[in-house]
Amino acid sequence: MTRHGPFAVVGAGIAGLACARALSEAGAAVTVFEREQFPGGRAATLIDGAGPYDHGAQYFTAADPRFAAELARWQSAGIVQRWEGRIVAFDGGVVEDKSDSAERFVAVPGMRRLGIHLAQGIDVRHASAIASLRRAAGGWRLVGDGTGSEGSGPFETVLVALPSPAAATLLAGLTTQAEAAAAVDWDPCWAVTMALAQRSGAGFDGAFVNDDPILGWVALDSSKPRRGQVDGVAERWVLHARPQWSRRFADLPQDEVTHWLIRSFAARLRRNLIPLQASAVHWSHALPVNPLPQLCLWDAAQRLGMAGDWCGGPRIEGAYRSGLALAGLALR
Ligand SMILES: Cc1cc2nc3c(=O)[nH]c(=O)nc-3n(C[C@H](O)[C@H](O)[C@H](O)COP(=O)(O)OP(=O)(O)OC[C@H]3O[C@@H](n4cnc5c(N)ncnc54)[C@H](O)[C@@H]3O)c2cc1C
Repeated sequence: MTRHGPFAVVGAGIAGLACARALSEAGAAVTVFEREQFPGGRAATLIDGAGPYDHGAQYFTAADPRFAAELARWQSAGIVQRWEGRIVAFDGGVVEDKSDSAERFVAVPGMRRLGIHLAQGIDVRHASAIASLRRAAGGWRLVGDGTGSEGSGPFETVLVALPSPAAATLLAGLTTQAEAAAAVDWDPCWAVTMALAQRSGAGFDGAFVNDDPILGWVALDSSKPRRGQVDGVAERWVLHARPQWSRRFADLPQDEVTHWLIRSFAARLRRNLIPLQASAVHWSHALPVNPLPQLCLWDAAQRLGMAGDWCGGPRIEGAYRSGLALAGLALR
């Protein structure tokens, strides 16, 4: 049992949930506040009439032994499976097979499952966007954004697991660490989901597109394990635009974005693609460009901390490790 608490965690992405689980397992009282209706953040699944799509994080890898051990537990619990798809890279007109360049894992039946699994047994308040913090008798009070979440607390410790611009805004003036968070830059990403009635004949399941002005990555999402079948749908694809294009055309209407990405993909396949259904989502903060070298930021005097993939590294593993590291410091 820890001598600290109660703890508030803001953000139920992978970093916030890893942090909350570690606190909870140490016996701390912890409440997580999440803006959306679902946990998981950018490890997301969009579900429409054609089925599920992983429109954010595509897959994950495990290099750190502690994260690899956690991954092995997720595999045993049936939460995660290996994606054995054929992965290629297009570069300067050459196609290179990258299938064996990494072991790639996905949550099943969609990436969102990872957040749902991590949130099990944790007090997560959904639809609870936090707009500000203030000092009050007995600790910190969290103030909602006026769209339904109430002010709550007091909490002895507040751990913020949001993309760095939001974290820096929330903690500005409360801890000097907010300045370090504000220095991290981000790339946006337009993600297009597309269902096809006929097989595309692409010949690969995922591709890094390194020689295209619009596309950066494409994935045959329906080739991932346990994605299920929908009548009349032969393939479901996710297309990601390059950061430069996503930034330049951030305000383009969604139907124009789907048009341009699908047109680029069709040109690459040398086929006419007529989607049954297509939609576009703009991730304004998709990936941090210059993540901080440290795993998390912790102000012991104020009992305020920050975690996320902008500390641990721009991927699911980084977010997870960052959340764990912050819990470790806050429990000392
Ligand atoms: C297009 C794209 C492709 C990617 N591809 C890969 C990949 O292939 N492999 C890989 O490993 N990683 C990939 N990533 C990165 C991966 O998704 C992230 O590194 C990881 O999910 C980040 O987790 P996080 O907890 O740090 O942040 P987030 O997932 O951003 O979590 C933050 C949470 O805070 C919530 N929130 C925001 N504001 C508030 C507020 N005011 N109050 C309360 N809650 C709030 C959000 O709703 C969200 O749930 C990709 C990301 C994107 C967008």
